[in-house]
Amino acid sequence: MTRRKHRKSFACGHRGLGQTCQACRQATQRQQQAVHPQRLQQQQKQRWRDSFKDDPIDLTGLPKHIVRQARQVLQKLDQGIHYKHLQDIRWHGDRSVVRIPLGRNYRLLCHISGQALQPYAVLSHEAYNKYARGTRR
Ligand SMILES: [Zn+2]
Repeated sequence: MTRRKHRKSFACGHRGLGQTCQACRQATQRQQQAVHPQRLQQQQKQRWRDSFKDDPIDLTGLPKHIVRQARQVLQKLDQGIHYKHLQDIRWHGDRSVVRIPLGRNYRLLCHISGQALQPYAVLSHEAYNKYARGTRR
């Protein structure tokens, strides 16, 4: 004697096997998995804000593309890659300081300590000029 499974009618109007409606269960799951675009944007913003905590120097308030460029340079310096043209970018006002251009308008300032470059600030072109004028001997 075989018992055949009968499709039931659920309160929602769907028909199917089991205790609850599979079609509705799947629809609910899809809804929960669907990411709201607004939420995604907030998460991306939060991730971007959090990413500054990992930087060795303060990069907040800089344009995004400068932040990315600065991080690439910082990573290279961290890996001990000797910066090319060190002579060209050595600051004439203070020989222990190196400025690495970031884009056209920003400079990453580093102290030279032995063979290593110790980054300490990113300045805009204007801020850098002001800073350079104030400290130049
Ligand atoms: Zn249903």
